[in-house]
Amino acid sequence: MNECVFCSNSILECDAAVTLTAKGVDGIVKASAHRGENLNIVVGQSVHVECKKRYTNPKALLVQMKKRQEDQDEDHGQHSLRSECTFSYRDNLNVLAAANTQSRAPTVNRR
Ligand SMILES: [Zn+2]
Repeated sequence: MNECVFCSNSILECDAAVTLTAKGVDGIVKASAHRGENLNIVVGQSVHVECKKRYTNPKALLVQMKKRQEDQDEDHGQHSLRSECTFSYRDNLNVLAAANTQSRAPTVNRR
């Protein structure tokens, strides 16, 4: 019985499946390289049409690559820098709010 390499489910007769050509394998290998994965696929193997489409979809690939990039950023501490920015921004808001309450002055932000 054939198993779809993408979802690991059996490919049933009622499923829309495609038999991989050399070209198909090439595209999937490239996609898997972009994803940092190592798929074990060979020419003549059957996969679900939908799974192959999803896997080699350039948009989905971009999302995946972006996600990997963000993971790497996090490793290098760039992510925490971003949270610091958010934090100080929120801090400023709190200071403004506190100043408003204390001085009972007309709203600072209003023009
Ligand atoms: Zn599948």
